[in-house]
Amino acid sequence: MKSMWSDEEAGTYAERYRAQGVNADLALRVYTSRLLGRDPALVLHGGGNTSVKTSVPDQLGRATEVLCVKGSGWDMAEIEPAGLPAVRLAPLTELRGLDVLTDEDMVNAQRCNLLDSAAPNPSVETLLHAFLPHKFIDHTHAVAVLALSDQPDGDAICRALYGKRMGYVPYIMPGFQLAKRAAEVFEKDPAVEGLILEKHGIFTFGSTAREAYERMVEKVSLAEERLKQGRKKVFAPAPMPKQCAVAADIAPFLRGLAAAHGKPGAPQRMILDFRTGAAILNYVNGADLARYSQVGVVTPDHTIRTKNWPVIVPAPDAADLSAFQRGAAAAFEGFAARYHDYFRRNNARQQTPKVELDAAPRVILVPGVGLFGVGASASAARIAADIATSTIETITDAEAVGRYECVGEADMFELEYWSLEQAKLGKGKEARLARHVVAVTGGASGIGRATAQAFKREGAEVAILDLAGDALTAAAAALKCTAIPCDVTDASAVKAAFARVAESFGGVDIVVSNAGRAWQGRIGSVDEKVLRESFELNFYGHQRVAQAAVEIMEKQGFGGALLFNVSKQAVNPGPNFGPYGLPKAAALALMRQYALDHGADGIRANAVNADRIRSGLLTDAMIAERSQARGVSRDEYMGGNLLKREVTADDVAQAFVSLALADKTTGAVLTVDGGNIAAALR
Ligand code: ZN
Repeated sequence: MKSMWSDEEAGTYAERYRAQGVNADLALRVYTSRLLGRDPALVLHGGGNTSVKTSVPDQLGRATEVLCVKGSGWDMAEIEPAGLPAVRLAPLTELRGLDVLTDEDMVNAQRCNLLDSAAPNPSVETLLHAFLPHKFIDHTHAVAVLALSDQPDGDAICRALYGKRMGYVPYIMPGFQLAKRAAEVFEKDPAVEGLILEKHGIFTFGSTAREAYERMVEKVSLAEERLKQGRKKVFAPAPMPKQCAVAADIAPFLRGLAAAHGKPGAPQRMILDFRTGAAILNYVNGADLARYSQVGVVTPDHTIRTKNWPVIVPAPDAADLSAFQRGAAAAFEGFAARYHDYFRRNNARQQTPKVELDAAPRVILVPGVGLFGVGASASAARIAADIATSTIETITDAEAVGRYECVGEADMFELEYWSLEQAKLGKGKEARLARHVVAVTGGASGIGRATAQAFKREGAEVAILDLAGDALTAAAAALKCTAIPCDVTDASAVKAAFARVAESFGGVDIVVSNAGRAWQGRIGSVDEKVLRESFELNFYGHQRVAQAAVEIMEKQGFGGALLFNVSKQAVNPGPNFGPYGLPKAAALALMRQYALDHGADGIRANAVNADRIRSGLLTDAMIAERSQARGVSRDEYMGGNLLKREVTADDVAQAFVSLALADKTTGAVLTVDGGNIAAALR
């Protein structure tokens, strides 16, 4: 590991923030916090914190000594001065005189001494920063340090490596008692450059931002060097099936199982995030996986993101997926039973009983394939997968030089059920379509794009499927959706696209089959080629998409929604629009067939019948031509309906959302045309 410090860059930070009224101490604190936060070998998702002691003016302009310490909810990689709230230092240091301080009182004292009442909660490790005298303090859960500390003789290994340059703090849960103990260890030998927190992480300090940061880099580099010595080869591989199934084929089964264990009673949808690679496969394919993967988390605060252990499912034999499905179901049952036991055992020792959290795993290890992170959102799943990937690195290193061991389950339980840790996850009310995966075909423009945006607003995870190109990339970037290139006239492309949806999110819940294009021609003389071309896209496109989605939905086992964009043409054909209207009419029948054949699986099929929407199908040139032909203005033409109002792509998008939410509606057509009696269903 190399120091990324640059005098020039440090100077730009100082200058940039000075213009915003931020002093140099805090500007440089932001700079090195970002350097630490951007290296996953040091910091992952809130798993570290930093501070600086400085002086800032209070409301009356009086210089006030404060501790600027990382606030909860901020990612160090992108931290800003606002992410390091200033807390009055003196009242914090005085707390050290107390014998006990409850978590609630600690949080209260921290908040009461904020200079800005709207600032985020200071880190749960604030007092540790406050009780040490150093100006700059850095804390990380560095992978290399944990690989050494997470050993039965981890303390001895660290002492042999760092000697008197570091202090050694036995494992204590974060909070007041740990802060006191860390200060005592430091005071016994004030020459130390930092502290090793057994089976938790590392602190380094300095009088400048650079000193504290470079001490961190140096100590972690020493650990990395140590890990290169006396390595044995890990892990001996277990036998694997001749051909393992691919992630996309098994993800929907796993998503179904995660949902079944997510909440007692009704299924609780989860999002999955797949990862694989040489290091992951070496780990999950190990013959001894059931031992080293089930020891526990590498640093206790990971437990709120990943739970204490991952679930291990069997290696999926591509030739026998049903055996995999049974084996995986048994593995999830085993996980849940172990989790209930763990909860009961540890809850019995609590003064105030806790409420048990759900028993769905947050990490799934699949020998022969890779791993899945599991979470209530794509972002939570990504965090779980990132942590699992980093955990594999730590445990692989630990096993290569010794034997992996972490804190006991009682300590993990304290952390998992610690109110201050649970608070990090946030407990806001979920959006209506949170935990739902939506795929929108033809989603790069027009109605599709508006629909993708509408589902995104409802909290869904959205994949936009459209022809590869700039429009797709731009729409996905603008809407923060996942871009998946897909030509729905190509059967293998549709299969591949849905495999990507399953790999990206674990499965799919709602499909908006919207891709389409208008062909014209007088039916008595139109070339058959034109008809066939239109049927390829406007009928078979829908069928391919629906079939691919149903395959995933049936594996998940908790239903789903198919939503088709059938045009007004399906009901009320326009002159010379046969090539477009005929396949659309067939698509309407297709929707009803899906409703009929798959209702018993909980899969609903519905359609939106929209008319006269400004889009790729109805271009400005066409609007001009038609309004001219009727001798009306463009606005009059577009508002040529009973309500006399133009219908927009957003109106159609809203209709798709409504149908997705209408739990008891299937086989229905929702008309969005401002009122057009000629196109009313009869
Ligand atoms: Zn920590």
